[in-house]
Amino acid sequence: MYSGGFYPFPSPEEFWAYWSRYIFINRYMDAPKPVYDELLALVRDKDYFVITTNVDHCFQKAGFDKKRLFYTQGDYGLFQCSTPCCQETFDNEKTIRQMMEQQANMCIPSELLPVCPHCGKPMTMNLRADDKFVEDEGWHRAAERYENFLRTRRNGRILFLELGVGYNTPVIIKYPFWRMTAQNKAATYACVNYGEALCPAEIEKQSICIDEDIGRVLRDLR
Ligand SMILES: [Zn+2]
Repeated sequence: MYSGGFYPFPSPEEFWAYWSRYIFINRYMDAPKPVYDELLALVRDKDYFVITTNVDHCFQKAGFDKKRLFYTQGDYGLFQCSTPCCQETFDNEKTIRQMMEQQANMCIPSELLPVCPHCGKPMTMNLRADDKFVEDEGWHRAAERYENFLRTRRNGRILFLELGVGYNTPVIIKYPFWRMTAQNKAATYACVNYGEALCPAEIEKQSICIDEDIGRVLRDLR
């Protein structure tokens, strides 16, 4: 599905026929496994904060505290102006459902093409792909909370638990976790990754690397 998103669809009607199904499945249907529930059960009573590059809303759906969550790369459930003419995002559930229901021959009806209510230009997903990504008010508040959380706990006993972070965007989670672990002797870095569980030699003694399925590790931990 992810690769299909890069296909050069011949028309916006076909583009949205694909993307509405993509968004519906990944954003509005329930996750197929209880991984997020297991994780929440493990951290619920702890002083935690989540930073994620996922855009599927699974942390919110599982019941994580919204004030302890920073989704840095956007959300499939939000539209933004493609220009963008404003730093605003728009809930898309109703539109996405209509596109799903009314599409035929791999196209949505033209009247359902989403347009910006301010400038009339086409809308697009609120996903970080280039410098047109809209960071709305909620994004900035979450970024600030994450900064505050790190600043006030910087020197304490802290676990940097990294789940399934690859090398697509390592500068957002992985490298900062490595750096903050190196700067704090009381910190522990734990990496759970199926195939790429590793850490730099500098923090080896503070690290736990598990090459295993995340769902299985969390279940075993509980
Ligand atoms: Zn606009």
